[in-house]
Amino acid sequence: MFKKLKVGPNLYTVRRVAAIENDSCNPDGQWSFDTKVGGLLQIKNDIENDVVEAEVVTHEVLHALFYHFNIEQDNEEHLVQTLAHGLTMVMKDNPRYLAYLTEKLK
Ligand SMILES: [Zn+2]
Repeated sequence: MFKKLKVGPNLYTVRRVAAIENDSCNPDGQWSFDTKVGGLLQIKNDIENDVVEAEVVTHEVLHALFYHFNIEQDNEEHLVQTLAHGLTMVMKDNPRYLAYLTEKLK
């Protein structure tokens, strides 16, 4: 697992945790940002399925993107869940697409 994630100017620490502490929309992950200490993505360390874990990480990254772009939606959670599921599905089903992105975004 990578340790840092940059979203625009904001740097997030990525931390594997035994449990998500605060009430979270997602029991396996949580996003937070504090202007004084920076960002934190917490990902549970016992997610058994790699695809589920990838979707959890994508889910929290999308929350960070909503924050960065100041997207305020009453249905943010639904949008984030749907987009995380969809992006994970497309990337899993199309490994050449992922390889293409990796090559083009070097
Ligand atoms: Zn969420």
